Amino acid sequence: MSPHPMPHLGGSTTLRLESVELKAIAEQFGTPTYVYSRAALTDAYRGYEHALNGRRATLCYAVKANSNLGILDAFARLGAGFDIVSGGELQRVIAAGGDPRKVVFSGVGKTAAEMQLALASDIRCFNVESAEELERLAQVARHSGRTARIAFRVNPDVDPKTHPYISTGLKSNKFGVAFDAARNLYRRAASLPGIEVCGIASHIGSQLLDPAPAGEAAARVLTLVEQLTRDGIRLQHIDIGGGMGIRYNDEAPPSADDYLAPVLAVLAGREEEILLEPGRSLIGNAGLLLTRIEYLKPGEEKHFAIVDAAMNDLARPALYDAYHAVTPVTPRNEPAQTYDVVGPICESGDFLARGRSLAVHAGDLLAILSAGAYGMTMASNYNTRPRAAEVMIDGTQCHLIRARERVEDLYAAESRLP
Ligand SMILES: *Cc1c(COP(=O)(O)O)cnc(C)c1O
Repeated sequence: MSPHPMPHLGGSTTLRLESVELKAIAEQFGTPTYVYSRAALTDAYRGYEHALNGRRATLCYAVKANSNLGILDAFARLGAGFDIVSGGELQRVIAAGGDPRKVVFSGVGKTAAEMQLALASDIRCFNVESAEELERLAQVARHSGRTARIAFRVNPDVDPKTHPYISTGLKSNKFGVAFDAARNLYRRAASLPGIEVCGIASHIGSQLLDPAPAGEAAARVLTLVEQLTRDGIRLQHIDIGGGMGIRYNDEAPPSADDYLAPVLAVLAGREEEILLEPGRSLIGNAGLLLTRIEYLKPGEEKHFAIVDAAMNDLARPALYDAYHAVTPVTPRNEPAQTYDVVGPICESGDFLARGRSLAVHAGDLLAILSAGAYGMTMASNYNTRPRAAEVMIDGTQCHLIRARERVEDLYAAESRLP
């Protein structure tokens, strides 16, 4: 197994992403900075295309994994569609040059205003998650003189065997419509003016390392599709969601070929177009968080490396106890010590990594790996910390795709009392 999980990251004396040295990025743009590899995200996208092997399919990149316009632009140029969960994400897709007619809109709480925006943009499909949402959507569509194309997101009640916070396909959670209720909902939808039934969707969870549950979910969905055909309802697409896992530490995730094999076997010979909604697996290992050590603080029980990135920049360790590999940008040939890598925020949960063996000095740069997905999109301004800069590397080039926030930006919309 390679020593770290990120493709296009290498260098013997100092780390490079593609052809650019990370220390040069730190010098030019400062720290903390998210750094992405265009080659890595392109490879991940091509991996899915390879797995789909000529089948009629659209890859709808899940925008919530990383919604920077530069990232969305890169995926749009590869031909991707987009899976969105808010009107704001739709505006980002359009601003990035994405095609709204390749957008599917997921989420349990779509507002009437979001529906209007999506209808006016002529998105491909609303993934409807409740009977009430269907009625509201029909009403909004009729009011605006448009037709909403819909799929129901059904809950196949398959256990994806992942973290409970990121499992979404079990009966017990808030997502999707119950499998047994779907048939009646489709009949209702087919009868509603303003609604055009076009597909079916499911998404069972995230960071899935075993391909079997996705295949089981597809098989469950297919029984419903066949039932609907008998009811006279024909679908144009089957959306099997996202969720393929990546390597953070010592996981052994499947390739896109292996992950999709059971799904493609289940759907072999079907006429419907296949839609996929991958997020993490397209961008997670295409990005890292570059940070500088401010202080080394020896403790009685353990040592701390206090860095200039924090839980407001990368929330996953604090939120899910998630593991991110940490590696010095320019390794030292010295004995290592065990450190917790922590930020400056006033919370004990403010750690990025715990118990790591590192040979480092104050002032050294660290790379927090596999941070491309659910990193910057979950960042906040807690402690009035400006959010990090973002840089996209493309071969020997680097593009600043988000300038570091300034403190004045953070309170620009606030005011003192009259
Ligand atoms: C979050 C989400 C995805 C993407 O999940 P990943 O694990 O990042 O692939 C896809 N579809 C829906 C509906 C989602 O909520």
